[in-house]
Amino acid sequence: MTIKLPLDISQVKGFLADDEAQALYDAALEVSHFGPCLEIGSYCGKSTIYFGLACQQNNAVLYALDHHRGSEEHQKGEMFHDPDLFDGQAELMDSFREFRTNIRASDLEDTVIPLVSSSAIASKQWATPLAMVFIDGGHSLDAALCDYRSWACHVKPGGILAIHDIFPNAEDGGQAPYEIYKLALASGLFEKLSRVNSLGLLRRI
Ligand code: MG
Repeated sequence: MTIKLPLDISQVKGFLADDEAQALYDAALEVSHFGPCLEIGSYCGKSTIYFGLACQQNNAVLYALDHHRGSEEHQKGEMFHDPDLFDGQAELMDSFREFRTNIRASDLEDTVIPLVSSSAIASKQWATPLAMVFIDGGHSLDAALCDYRSWACHVKPGGILAIHDIFPNAEDGGQAPYEIYKLALASGLFEKLSRVNSLGLLRRI
């Protein structure tokens, strides 16, 4: 499905390839008519925009979960640190302001519900079944495992679990997302749908 983008997406900071964006959009368009969706790790909203536009088509909502304090690699002195996203007063990363600007510019305020929190706390009393969960949070093994254990269980039968940054070859990237992808498959609760670039899509049986 061709995506009508309401803004110049190349101006939105983030790490999502075009083919992955298309696959995320198509998957969300397929399943978001039967429940709310959730994304973990929104950063400045690049994937949220694609995901949210598909949800909007189906009059569904997308919970966009991020503490907006950056992952390990976004911290001061790390490889993906962006000084524009640093709150000098708090001495902390803050991508929430940029996120809100981009969601507003995309006319997605009627669809995207920001959850500014850690994944562990947001999931603590969560009880709503989800049509689709997209895990794109921290890439340490602890963070990825926490996201998987906290959220994969809420995907409805027939729904989709998507995981970003899957690199079967360790030379191409960190292994934590691939580890939880393998865990999901080994659980017997999910079947492989497709792999597009580093995006893995699984269907809840
Ligand atoms: Mg990612």
